[in-house]
Amino acid sequence: MNIHEYQAKELLAKFGVPVPAGYAALSVEEAVAASKKLPGPLYVVKAQIHAGGRGKGKFKELGPDAKGGVRLARTEEEVRAAAADMLGNTLVTVQTGDAGKQVNRLYVTDGVDIAHEFYLALLVDRVTGRVAFVVSTEGGMDIETVAHDSPEKIHTFDVDPATGFMPHHGRAVANALGLTGDLAKQAQRLAGKVYDTFLGTDAAQIEINPLAVTEASGDSGAKLLVLDAKVGFDSNAAFRHKDLLELRDETEEDPQELEASKYDLAYIKLDGNIGCMVNGAGLAMATMDIIKLNGEFPANFLDVGGGANKEKVTAAFKIILSDPAVKGILVNIFGGTMRCDIIAEGIVAAAKEVNLSVPLVVRLEGTNVDKGKEILANSGLAIVPANDLGDAAKKIVAEVRSAA
Ligand code: ADP
Ligand code: MG
Repeated sequence: MNIHEYQAKELLAKFGVPVPAGYAALSVEEAVAASKKLPGPLYVVKAQIHAGGRGKGKFKELGPDAKGGVRLARTEEEVRAAAADMLGNTLVTVQTGDAGKQVNRLYVTDGVDIAHEFYLALLVDRVTGRVAFVVSTEGGMDIETVAHDSPEKIHTFDVDPATGFMPHHGRAVANALGLTGDLAKQAQRLAGKVYDTFLGTDAAQIEINPLAVTEASGDSGAKLLVLDAKVGFDSNAAFRHKDLLELRDETEEDPQELEASKYDLAYIKLDGNIGCMVNGAGLAMATMDIIKLNGEFPANFLDVGGGANKEKVTAAFKIILSDPAVKGILVNIFGGTMRCDIIAEGIVAAAKEVNLSVPLVVRLEGTNVDKGKEILANSGLAIVPANDLGDAAKKIVAEVRSAA
């Protein structure tokens, strides 16, 4: 589960990480009111969507010359104009895909005088199985280019869970950022607090980009401040964090994936035209591969899991069919403890309930397979039976192509 920038910053602030002041806003008036609570003279109005690259993004409705989803404002009028430009419009960034995302929330925050932009992220390193720091002096809006062109500028190290965060980890962060004196101390403290946030929330990822060094002014020296934060949580630990679930913004999620999660179905929408219903993630991957091998593309990944009953199968059919790109469905189920005859009954009942209008190829294998095939054959539905995975893929591709 991902959350918005303003929520991520509120969370980090609770753990003692320094962030600029700011307020979320759902309307132009709220944005203006938010700016009045801030000291000024510089404000930043930021689109809140679950995607990065907002600064360099473009609004579909505003034309190519308009500014992106992160705007500086110096007066009430400028705050008003920025908010009015963004709310309700569609922001397209490198991370949203061509469809973009509608902006329904804004964050109005203190404008900061930036001396330099760093990058700091925490994630779980899958090789070591430990929480890892990823640090670079080259933060800001082009970190992807840095990672690609000069990976030596990105430093990583992980934390042994037996010791937890140690002073030397903080020094490693400060060193990687080339900081000395007071800024090095700030970096050490900040790194520890971000680590606390990561562990305390069972995060999967915390990405701070930029981590800014402010210009020193008057008596106050340079400060390290989190100017942008992206936080995602490990959904397997969600039951331990009921409070964090309230931060979920379902409007940011794919509606079909959201529906699937209610039935405990693992569904991911893809770009092809053959809907897949499979039990087991490995078999689902193999099914997608073999569809591609036969020249078509899967419309989705869908693992109905071990206990595929009628209710789940019906929900799965409905979710697959709600994608208008789907021109045929391939069901590939291995009946283990769940017997093939039970699955066949579920498929028949579900196909009747949803008034299935696209070709359906079914490959069943496993316990009671003959009984299962008999149920499909006697169903009165135009179900195409398949003997094995290769046969099933060939048949659904042929069906889809002849229907086109
Ligand atoms: P995104 O990563 O989605 O483009 P950011 O929040 O990182 O959005 O903002 C993009 C850039 O805008 C930052 O790299 C920084 O230069 C500038 N910026 C963001 N927030 C502030 C702020 N509070 N004060 C001054 N500049 C900011
Ligand atoms: Mg950013």
